[in-house]
Amino acid sequence: MPAPLTLVESSDELPRSADAVIIGAGIVGVFTAYYLARRGLKVVVVEKGRVGAEQSSRNWGWCRQQNRDARELPMATKSLDLWEQFAEESGEDTDFRRCGLLYLSNSEEELAGWARWRDFARTVGVTTHMLDSAAASERGAATGRAWKGGVFSPSDGTADPSRAAPAVARAILKLGGTVLQNCAARGIETEGGRLSAVVTEHGAIRTGTAILSGGAWASSFCRQLGIRFPQASIRSSILSVAPGEAVLPDALHTARVSVTRRSDGGYTLAISGRGRVDPTLQKIRFAPQFLPMFLRRWRSLSPGGLEGIRSGHESLTRWQIDRPTPMEHMRILDPAVDRGTIRRTFDRAAELLPALKGRRVTASWAGYIDSTPDGVPAIGETPAVPGFILAAGFSGHGFGIGPGAGHLIADIVMGSDPLVDPRPYHPDRFSQSAWGKVTDF
Ligand SMILES: Cc1cc2nc3c(=O)[nH]c(=O)nc-3n(C[C@H](O)[C@H](O)[C@H](O)COP(=O)(O)OP(=O)(O)OC[C@H]3O[C@@H](n4cnc5c(N)ncnc54)[C@H](O)[C@@H]3O)c2cc1C
Repeated sequence: MPAPLTLVESSDELPRSADAVIIGAGIVGVFTAYYLARRGLKVVVVEKGRVGAEQSSRNWGWCRQQNRDARELPMATKSLDLWEQFAEESGEDTDFRRCGLLYLSNSEEELAGWARWRDFARTVGVTTHMLDSAAASERGAATGRAWKGGVFSPSDGTADPSRAAPAVARAILKLGGTVLQNCAARGIETEGGRLSAVVTEHGAIRTGTAILSGGAWASSFCRQLGIRFPQASIRSSILSVAPGEAVLPDALHTARVSVTRRSDGGYTLAISGRGRVDPTLQKIRFAPQFLPMFLRRWRSLSPGGLEGIRSGHESLTRWQIDRPTPMEHMRILDPAVDRGTIRRTFDRAAELLPALKGRRVTASWAGYIDSTPDGVPAIGETPAVPGFILAAGFSGHGFGIGPGAGHLIADIVMGSDPLVDPRPYHPDRFSQSAWGKVTDF
């Protein structure tokens, strides 16, 4: 069974013009279109496959400030409010809940790292509670064991990845926007050096503004335009299990395994950071930029196989704008599941939470997590093509900050006061220095 996803009925007709065209209907693209449509712009979202079908429906659903890098924390904080506001404004349900996130550990080193983050978070007004052994063991009672300590972040929460992007797409339609599925953007046109149209497989849409929220496909799309965007993806495999009687924590992280309650009462099980590196020409091209990130994360990574080449999202080939492109050959990036990881994840989860023993596995899936060299997203207009805004490289934490990212991009397009300082996100940083500072947490 693939990752669960609510299907959206979308538009058929390709508009000839728009104020803004959004390429890619993951959580970032749909929230961008939503905030632009709310400000009265005529928006068109073009999605090569189905709304939310790639990373945005394949994740755990965590919307967290806890352990965020300082550069991303302001956006994470604003996003939590925006998740709540979205439900009120639109009447659509993403199942966002501030259920709090629980972290448990028996490692002094890990606990010391969390305490350092707590001290930093306090300076920016974010509350998180360090738990001593008694409090951690009590909050983690479902594990049936004692813990040295932990963290509980009460204002963080989760949303349902199978429902979130479709809910936002429906809100765009209600505001009069257009959402097209099975419609790949193949490239752009320019006039006088500025963006003048987005060319899709079904024809061109004249526009002065395009936002590339193409997730793992963004770098290869940029390459067609002569824009260098260092990006690499890791294949992560996770699973879900059926609901049961026992009351378990809504969202629990331990070093060995993490569990998250789904809106149907089942649980998503995963091993944090675990993934396979599938070699591609794009990865080889950007290998020097990713070295510091790799050195920090290599313990959780294992070598992959030909899946990356088969998928085509990191292709270096130049495509023709009047012929089918790799995006039309791979409507939905649905890489092979790593069966060994799925077995290990289930075993570890059942060991951690005995109530999960014997639970039926309802689905297992893999997703390519797209990352930048420093682990911070790339958001900003590309100087090479005025009017073309890049919004990708969300590095494994883009679901929770989707609303804030979408709001910020809408602010950039409108020239209004930005939700948060946009400078840490600007893609220019990749041309200024070979190695940025890799995220701390
Ligand atoms: C296993 C896993 C667990 C994760 N857990 C979390 C978590 O708990 N919390 C969190 O915050 N984040 C998490 N993430 C990361 C999060 O899912 C991503 O950062 C986020 O969903 C990225 O959203 P996006 O819109 O940028 O990309 P995507 O959701 O990948 O969407 C990009 C879309 O663009 C489309 N597209 C690409 N090129 C074109 C084109 N040329 N024309 C038309 N359409 C195009 C694609 O089809 C796709 O639908 C996790 C990711 C995975 C895989």
